[in-house]
Amino acid sequence: MSRERRIGWVPDEYEAMSAGELAQRVSHAKKVLGSRLTILGHHYQRDEIIRHADFRGDSLELSRRAAETDSEYIVFCGVSFMAETAAVLCSPEQAVIQPVQEALCPMAEMASRRQAEATWEALSSVWDDPIIPITYQNSTAELKAFVGQKGGAVCTSSNARALFEWAFGQGGRILFVPDEHLGTNTALDMGLPEAALGVWDPLRPPDPASVADCRVVAWKGFCWVHTGFTVEDVAGARAQHPDALVIVHPECPRPVVVASDLSGSTARIIRVVEEAPKGATIVVGTECHLVDRLAQEYPDKQIVPLSRRACGSMSLTQLKHLAYILDGLVAGEVRNVVSVPDEVAHWARLALDKMLQIG
Ligand code: SF4
Repeated sequence: MSRERRIGWVPDEYEAMSAGELAQRVSHAKKVLGSRLTILGHHYQRDEIIRHADFRGDSLELSRRAAETDSEYIVFCGVSFMAETAAVLCSPEQAVIQPVQEALCPMAEMASRRQAEATWEALSSVWDDPIIPITYQNSTAELKAFVGQKGGAVCTSSNARALFEWAFGQGGRILFVPDEHLGTNTALDMGLPEAALGVWDPLRPPDPASVADCRVVAWKGFCWVHTGFTVEDVAGARAQHPDALVIVHPECPRPVVVASDLSGSTARIIRVVEEAPKGATIVVGTECHLVDRLAQEYPDKQIVPLSRRACGSMSLTQLKHLAYILDGLVAGEVRNVVSVPDEVAHWARLALDKMLQIG
């Protein structure tokens, strides 16, 4: 297969190296580059990557780290919307590098700027109140820029409610993109009646009149990992672990959230596990790399996956990719730089700044 067509291509010598050799290469490069290099690893990355990360976290925590560091090279081990966000927040002198640039978040790819513009037009024809677009952090820089231009904001699963309150406080109605489940879970948790919620399928747009009375219209996008959890999974976990606390991510469908004891962002899930008493059993509905790591780090508690679901995009980044990128930096070759056009970065930054002010 040609180099152009192979996802995550590295030279043959890296394919042939043992895990030990690759780890040595990475450690050596880190030593040589020192503070010129910061490696960021998302919680859903493989252990072989997280082991070498200077910081691990969810997408918001890592974007903040990227914005704070003075390092010349920021190697972002995650999916592309995260690296783009880091590139938007960093200074032009810094290079944000994504070891596998084909690692895209499928959910982020479910909403394009062109589709969002068309939806905006359609909603404008039936809503007199201001339309406030809110985009989940899991979206492309182009979409964040659209939201910034329209006076909206980015949100995360930790602060979605605060952003919704801000939008309603301005007398606005919300177009929430791209995760239907985070949008509806947030609105229903705030006490909005179901009748106030609409769903917008960009591939089969509904008659705008059908959402004229809605206060929130959520985009019909979803996460492959979190929509795979079911109420049967929750019932099965309760049958096996009757005393367990069940916590799931708000990207899960509403019936799964309702059947669970708690729902919360990655940061909240980690906090719940940390704060649980010794001997507690916690069933966790999120990506299994994180759940496995929590189980290893808290051996005095029983941490059980609701079901084993891995993110294929997050798993694309392997040690061979990190070693290849870092060897290049040591040799003066900067590979896989993520760049965002200036105008897109400007508007996207506005939407991100609004989130940081409000949320
Ligand atoms: S876990 Fe879901 S939201 Fe996160 S990167 Fe994978 S597909 Fe996207």
